[in-house]
Amino acid sequence: MSNLKKTDPEIAGIISDEEKRQQRNIELIASENFVSEAVMEAAGSCLTNKYAEGYPGKRYYGGCEVVDRAESLARERAEQLFGAEHANVQPHSGSQANQAVYYAFVPQKTGTILAMDLSHGGHLSHGSPVNISGKYFNVVHYGVSEEDERIDFNQVESLAQEHNPDLIVAGASAYPREIDFARFREIADENDAYFMVDMAHIAGLIAVGLHPDPVPYADFVTTTTHKTLRGTRGGMILCKEEHARDIDRAIFPGLQGGPLMHIIAAKAVTLKEALADSFQSYQEQILKNARVMAEALQEHDFRLVAGGTDTHLILVDLNSKGVTGKDLEEALDRVGITVNKNTIPFEERSPFVTSGIRIGTPAVTTRGMQEEEMKEIAGYINEVVNNIERDEYLENIKEKVYDLSGRFV
Ligand SMILES: *Cc1c(COP(=O)(O)O)cnc(C)c1O
Repeated sequence: MSNLKKTDPEIAGIISDEEKRQQRNIELIASENFVSEAVMEAAGSCLTNKYAEGYPGKRYYGGCEVVDRAESLARERAEQLFGAEHANVQPHSGSQANQAVYYAFVPQKTGTILAMDLSHGGHLSHGSPVNISGKYFNVVHYGVSEEDERIDFNQVESLAQEHNPDLIVAGASAYPREIDFARFREIADENDAYFMVDMAHIAGLIAVGLHPDPVPYADFVTTTTHKTLRGTRGGMILCKEEHARDIDRAIFPGLQGGPLMHIIAAKAVTLKEALADSFQSYQEQILKNARVMAEALQEHDFRLVAGGTDTHLILVDLNSKGVTGKDLEEALDRVGITVNKNTIPFEERSPFVTSGIRIGTPAVTTRGMQEEEMKEIAGYINEVVNNIERDEYLENIKEKVYDLSGRFV
């Protein structure tokens, strides 16, 4: 980064510090990952200079014949990877992908969306009152059942009958179990609603068949490209051919102006990597690591929401440990382990405090860590909980954490 160091040493310094932080710490945030050098090269390329409003072959600017090839490749690869009829690779983020579906298929003010409650694992963009989705549409929320903490389909069904939604949304940010998309489709059909799946978290697992596939069931599938899919930060929409035109128009000119062509090129690289054989074994290792981590935490007497995990993420209920999510997140930060505090279903604390933490294995798996390291990390988490007030002890754990992470450069 010799040019950057000359032009802006402050930012160059920040980037270098962040690079060190990412190498030194153990990254357990379930929505994060590490992209390849190839993805970064595309994302940092001269394609950032190009305006390309519109779609390949139908642009509002001249000189798009080269970037058209990048977007066409990204679309074809997305369609191939997920077996989708149509892909739109322009959404700047997962939230914008969701907004586009709502904008195109749910009437503003009068339209109703049925989606998962944020406090039960849903996402802000699924109708939270502080998000545009909650302000422009009428939103009804389902959750998990108190008994087994899995999606309460009786509730989904009765809410659908009562509120007659235009759109039913499945998908979550903090739900550790498989989602039964076929069951959602039935309920959508019974109530004459569109069905959208937001697979942001689990797209990588779905790409290789390690989670049930939403594409045959959903009218629209939205995703991010930067979580288990391990790509550049961005969003994407897959849909049936019959909806392609409306989806494309909702993204441009509906919500966005010029697409980020450098990021679209990086999405194409991401998708090529996901089509390679090695992506299958990567996703398998994510699952193995999550299962071993879950078991190890249970051996240390942590209670896991929904009793464990089928995916890359684990939601830990800290109530029996006498520590809040906020306090544990901060203490883990001090020893170089990065997690996020998270509300748990039927939460009694505020979202700034919480009774849980969310743990994910995609990033540590990218670094090459396997089952033995998961047990070791679970042990450190347990030691931090048990010694949260003892500064010297935490200092000691930090050394061990740095030592572990230093073995995976
Ligand atoms: C991460 C996530 C998103 C949003 O992605 P951004 O790119 O941060 O806007 C949307 N939906 C779900 C379920 C997510 O987990």
